[in-house]
Amino acid sequence: MIGGDLPQFDIRPNPRPRSAAERAEILANPGFGLHFTDHMVTIQYTEGQGWHDPTVQAYGPIQMSPATAVLHYAQEIFEGMKAYHRADGKIGLFRADENARRFQRSAERMAMAQLPEEWFLASLQALIDVDKSWVPDDEDSSLYLRPFMFANEAFLGVRPAKEFLYCVIASPAGAYFKSGPKPVSLWVSQEYTRAAPGGTGAAKCGGNYATSLRPQSEAIENGCEQVVFLDAVHRKYIDELGGMNIFFVYEAEKKIVTPELGTILAGVTRDAVLTLGRDLGYRVEERQYSFEEWKADALSGSLSETFACGTAAVLTPVGTVRDHTGEFHASGGKAGELTMKLRQTLLDIQHGKAADPYGWTS
Ligand code: PMP
Repeated sequence: MIGGDLPQFDIRPNPRPRSAAERAEILANPGFGLHFTDHMVTIQYTEGQGWHDPTVQAYGPIQMSPATAVLHYAQEIFEGMKAYHRADGKIGLFRADENARRFQRSAERMAMAQLPEEWFLASLQALIDVDKSWVPDDEDSSLYLRPFMFANEAFLGVRPAKEFLYCVIASPAGAYFKSGPKPVSLWVSQEYTRAAPGGTGAAKCGGNYATSLRPQSEAIENGCEQVVFLDAVHRKYIDELGGMNIFFVYEAEKKIVTPELGTILAGVTRDAVLTLGRDLGYRVEERQYSFEEWKADALSGSLSETFACGTAAVLTPVGTVRDHTGEFHASGGKAGELTMKLRQTLLDIQHGKAADPYGWTS
C-alpha cells in the first residue's frame, strides 16, 4: 500500500492481553510512562515502495540488526499527546492534526520520510479503538500516546536511511508532576544550551532529549525540579524547559510574553495558550525575553506569574528560579490566578466540559 490512500490496518489481537483485574490495578496508580497497553501500531516505509504494512499487533519487543542506522546516527523523531474520557462518553484527542504536522516537520528536518497526516491520525484511532479500556476515567489522568519513527535500515554509511519504522505505543498516565499543579522550581542552565540557530531545536527528535539529560541532572543536583535553557548565541534569552514552553504574565498591563519560535519546540499547548490568552483580553508578545528582564520584573513585582506548559503537565506554575548566582521567586509570591484559569479552561475543553470554539477536540 502506498502513502496517500487511507491505511487498512491488519489487526492482529494480542493473544495474551492483561486481565481486567490487572488493568484496573495499573489504572489505579499509573504513574507516567511505566505501563503500556496490550497493542501497538507499526507501519513500514521503504524507499520506492512508500508506506506499507500498517498493522495493529501485540505490544512487544522489536527485533533489529545491530547495524540498524538509528542505533548509530540517531535518526529518530517522536510525538506525544493524550486521549481523554470526555463528558459525553467519547474518547477525545486534543489538536492531533497539529501533532501530525509537527511530526512531518520533524521528519523533514531529520531527512526522514513524511507520514501523511491522515495516516498519522488513522494510526492513533486504530490503537485507541483496540485499547480503549486503557483510557483512565479521572480528569488528571489520560492515555498518553507516543507515535515515533526511526531509521531501521541496517547500514552504517552516514546518509538518510531508506527504510523507516513508524510505531505508536500508549501508556496510561496519572498527574505528570507528583506534586500536582504546585509551583515547579527551575534551574537556569548557564553551562549547557539546548539548541542553536540552524540546529534541531524545533524538531522533536530524540537527540534533543539526550542532550538535555545532563543539564536536567544538574538541576536536580542544585535542588530544582526542571531545567530552563538560555539561547545558544547570547546566553541571555530564555528558550524553554527540557520538555515545556514558558510564559510570563504581567497582570497590571494585561500582557503575556513567551519566547518566539525558532530554536524552541512549537508546542501545541503554547499555541492554545496564546489563543486563550487573547480571548481573555490579554495582549500576547512572542519575543526575545532575557533572564535579566525576568529577574528584574520578578523582584520589582511587575511580573505577576510565570508558568510552563506542555501536553504532559498542561500548565504548571513556576516558583523558585535558581542559577549559580542566587535565586528569586518567579511569580512575585502571588497565587497564579491566570495560570490556574488557563489550565482549567484547557482541561475543560479537552474533557468536553466547556465549549470548543476552535474545534480543537476530536
Ligand atoms: N518543549 C519541549 C522541548 C517539549 O518536549 C514539549 C513537549 N512536547 C513542549 C515544549 C510542549 O509541547 P506540547 O505542548 O506540544 O506538548
